[in-house]
Amino acid sequence: MAVPFRKTSKTRRDMRRTHFKLSVPGMVKCSHCGELKLAHRVCRACGTYKGEDVVNK
Ligand SMILES: [Zn+2]
Repeated sequence: MAVPFRKTSKTRRDMRRTHFKLSVPGMVKCSHCGELKLAHRVCRACGTYKGEDVVNK
């Protein structure tokens, strides 16, 4: 089995890890109520999407 020739230094290890940061966010402010919501999803706080009320109360 192939084995690494050298120990990976702390710097190299940390440089590699700069790429696996948080990928989840996708959060934007609702244009209607200003609440944080998922992008391209209906706002959970006020039930609007693109300024239109899509959740009939
Ligand atoms: Zn909203």
